[in-house]
Amino acid sequence: MNVLALGLLTLAPPADTVLYQYSVLDTLNQANYDGALDLAHLLQRGDFGLGTYNGLNGEMIVLDGTPYRADGTGTLHVPARDARTPFAFVTRFRSAERVTLPGVSTLSTLQAAVQPRLRVGKPYAIRVQGRCDRIKARSFPTQTPPYRPLPELVPTQATFEWRDRRATFVGFFMPQYVGKMNAPGFHFHGVTDDRKNGGHLLELEIRDAVIDLMPIDRFEFEFPLGGVPGSGR
Ligand SMILES: [Zn+2]
Repeated sequence: MNVLALGLLTLAPPADTVLYQYSVLDTLNQANYDGALDLAHLLQRGDFGLGTYNGLNGEMIVLDGTPYRADGTGTLHVPARDARTPFAFVTRFRSAERVTLPGVSTLSTLQAAVQPRLRVGKPYAIRVQGRCDRIKARSFPTQTPPYRPLPELVPTQATFEWRDRRATFVGFFMPQYVGKMNAPGFHFHGVTDDRKNGGHLLELEIRDAVIDLMPIDRFEFEFPLGGVPGSGR
């Protein structure tokens, strides 16, 4: 499938939108996998977002105010509200613009279709819903101390494929200037509509895709707990 057509529907723009972020992505690259923020506090700041859990215990997906954890087998769980995170970011999602795509056969094609709608230098929250012929996703196995940095764990990540599933993807686009704070470019985590499976999205074939975009106006940052005192990390 290629892009067959592009339908656009512009809705009323939302008022001031805020991205709340706890810690920075780079802290994971330095193997700081234990944070101080729990889900109860995170969910006060938003209903839509991404992250991970302490011990790198799966991929975090927050959708419609419900927190999910995709474990190392791609199975979805709803963690208790006292589950903690070393890195997460959420916003209150309200669609400002809708893009529809009859079908795309790759994630990069979907991203290329969305990119022209994004204002240069603006971060966006992006929700994608549709019927997926194929979803390829990943998650990390739970880590135990002493932790190894995230780049060393990439070869150990587990990947999964699901076919013919309806799914929703919680995504963001971050400009290059976010640097090590977050992940520049597109970043999606998905959950199947039956809420049985999920993970960090690697590849996608989707039909009847409904893509909702929300530009982000403000950024609220909370500093992390930090690493072991004296470790210099
Ligand atoms: Zn991810």
